[in-house]
Amino acid sequence: MFLSRFKKFICILLTAVMISLVPYSDVSAAERVFPHDDNLVIVIDPGHGGNDTGTQGGRIQERFMNLITASALASRLSMYEGVTVYMTRSDNDTTLSLTDRAKYAESVDADFVFSVHYNACYAHDRFGIEVYTSRVAPYNAYGYQFGNLLMQKFEEQYGIFPRGVKTRKGLRTEGDYYTIISANIYREIPAVIIEHCFADGTVDAVHTASNDLFVSYGETDADAIAEYFGLKSSILGIDYSGYSDNLIAADINNFNDATYEDRTAPDLVSVTVTNIDPVSNTVTVTVEAEEADGMMMFYALSTDGGWTWEESKPWPGANTYNGTFDSSFELTLSFEDGYRPDIVIKGFNRYDAYTKSNQITFIDRFNSLDKPMYREA
Ligand SMILES: [Zn+2]
Repeated sequence: MFLSRFKKFICILLTAVMISLVPYSDVSAAERVFPHDDNLVIVIDPGHGGNDTGTQGGRIQERFMNLITASALASRLSMYEGVTVYMTRSDNDTTLSLTDRAKYAESVDADFVFSVHYNACYAHDRFGIEVYTSRVAPYNAYGYQFGNLLMQKFEEQYGIFPRGVKTRKGLRTEGDYYTIISANIYREIPAVIIEHCFADGTVDAVHTASNDLFVSYGETDADAIAEYFGLKSSILGIDYSGYSDNLIAADINNFNDATYEDRTAPDLVSVTVTNIDPVSNTVTVTVEAEEADGMMMFYALSTDGGWTWEESKPWPGANTYNGTFDSSFELTLSFEDGYRPDIVIKGFNRYDAYTKSNQITFIDRFNSLDKPMYREA
């Protein structure tokens, strides 16, 4: 751990020295880590299909959403030069195993596989875009650099929350959980899963409201892929062959710590009362968290002791790209006359593991007059 941090420090120093030696216009934000190839072969994989519908939690089944996005992606990416694009399926009736998709990628000599998906979760309360990459070097770095570039575009263009570039460990192996990733890297083909946003949540409902949006996302994917590989298109009048500010530094020889699968709940989440205004019926609380092996990403509030929860919100200061977050923040809550709040906060990390805070239980009801009493548990 210390060694890897030290190495990174040296890399930063070296980058700083190099920047001072070259003219500004040639400076990359970070080096492209994927090996240059004049004749790229890209396979676009619309997730699910046929008997496998994908999530049914959205306005339409996921297999349909994925094909709309993947088709738009493939047709726009084909407008770039030096790239041949294939799709694993082009209708919604074909059932294809994950291994067959990887075998297909191998048969066309693919350089990279992009698997197109939309997300869902049991509680229907999540939102944002995330990208899954391999745990194995150098594939881990390829997906890490691509995913960060893609999330920046989705955040800027659509206001979709960036949840991060993630990994997931296989159940009985040190390798990857997702077969579309493991079956491809077994064939030495890098692969990532793009989970564009959540089909089943209320926050992302606005981002899945029309099929036109699914088309736009595919076009944005295509531009992100083109930028990642440094492609240009005379038809589109776009040239990514120079530098890109959107590339993040990635280590091709090691696992990138920012993609670490943090399944342990945050170390501590606490809430304390900092002010009560009895006339306006408001309470100001300070929320604090400690999360040594990851980052805080969301919080949810309950004012009835945890029976019901408000929609979760991004944790203040949460920065997906560098892993930082505010260790504390203030919330001011207002209540109606006669209400007796019982305040508790859930703090979630990047992998949705959460810790519940202590509870602030009011003994008296708010009445726009007297300062209500409370106890902390
Ligand atoms: Zn899916």
